[in-house]
Amino acid sequence: MDMIVRGGTVVTMDGPRRVVENGSVAVKNGRIVAVGSVAEIDRSYGSRQIVNATGKVVIPGLINGHTHVPMTLFRGLADDLDLQEWLTKYIFPAEAKNVTEEFVRVGTRLGLAEMIRSGTTTYCDMYYFEDAIADETAKAGVRGVLGETVIDFPVADNKTNAEAMAYVEKFVSKWKDNPLITPAIAPHAPYTVSEEHLKAARGFSDRTGAPIVTHISETKREVDDSLKAKGASPIDYLNRIGFLNDRVIAAHVVWPSATELALLKKLGVGIVHNPQSNMKLASGVAPVPRMLQDDLPVGLGTDGAASNNDLNLWEEMDTAAKLHKLFSNDPRVVSAQEAFEMATIRGARALHLEKEIGSIEVGKRADLVVVDFDDFNQTPFYNIYSGLVYATKADDVRTVIIEGRMVMRDRRLLTLNEATIKVDARRYRERIIRSLSAKTAPAD
Ligand SMILES: [Zn+2]
Repeated sequence: MDMIVRGGTVVTMDGPRRVVENGSVAVKNGRIVAVGSVAEIDRSYGSRQIVNATGKVVIPGLINGHTHVPMTLFRGLADDLDLQEWLTKYIFPAEAKNVTEEFVRVGTRLGLAEMIRSGTTTYCDMYYFEDAIADETAKAGVRGVLGETVIDFPVADNKTNAEAMAYVEKFVSKWKDNPLITPAIAPHAPYTVSEEHLKAARGFSDRTGAPIVTHISETKREVDDSLKAKGASPIDYLNRIGFLNDRVIAAHVVWPSATELALLKKLGVGIVHNPQSNMKLASGVAPVPRMLQDDLPVGLGTDGAASNNDLNLWEEMDTAAKLHKLFSNDPRVVSAQEAFEMATIRGARALHLEKEIGSIEVGKRADLVVVDFDDFNQTPFYNIYSGLVYATKADDVRTVIIEGRMVMRDRRLLTLNEATIKVDARRYRERIIRSLSAKTAPAD
């Protein structure tokens, strides 16, 4: 064996949701080859690399289903605004003045460090220069579904749709066989990409098998505008033009009707719920209890750090469980276990990767997280899912393994340079402030 994670409480998230006390996980060639009690695994397997998980909890790596990873560099740049004002007055101008390939690399390394430290092993991204994001992600040993943005105005990496489509073509063929990276096409949203270009993105996905990452039905205003302009809600419109299928990963889906949810389920569209981002931008509350009741593939995401302001899945799990209880006036909805499922196996379904990740099962990729479970905030504990979702914090994550490779050991990052990441990010902060004040200077 290449590695044995030995002696912890293994929360498998397999079909029967098995929890193995004093369990072990054997890993070879990046995959899980055995899961069982310490005695069983010791009897059949040996390895030079033993990760001692005694007294700890071993979970499947967490899945961040939606983010814009380089936006870590805009963390806290503009808060407490509504989505349209936030986007058009702050984020789009700040991006226009600052986003370069180097910016994207620095922001990606920062986001990767933050995600590894909090036990995220897979993330789904949408941004510009996604080829550089893929490069940094693969180097850090992190798994990503990475979508190059297609949007109907000139952006940092591509000035026209033709350029963007050519970029995507090269990007997808370059990364499609990488074990960590699933390259994708990411038409930004139905209100920023024309029907023709949405259809072209779908055609590209049909031809190459690449997933489509997009935003759908994020705000009530988006739905109202769509009804006015197109005579249909965003979901109805996208369905009418043949855009939706089981390769689509839709972030938000805050405002679907019951009929639309049934349609999304029938078509196999993956959904990513971003509770903290939706709360911060007051976008609304997605009907997650209904999605869970109907067994839709819904995962959890942080969204970009500019609208959250961190990339911490533990907070999203905790928030998801509590937000829907409050909103539906029913403490029984979105249980701790369901919230944990959304960050693991159901999140894997949302990304259409449930055959590869999301649970600790023989044959799946060895994406494993060892969590300390003896801090004051976790003591005492009665129920494992309650302990994980309501009491565990990102700081309790101790060791992270992705594709059978250790990327953090005892809270030390092994594939990224912690010191230079912060220095680089702070240098960008100065540049970003200067770039924005340069714009307002003539008016002063
Ligand atoms: Zn987003």
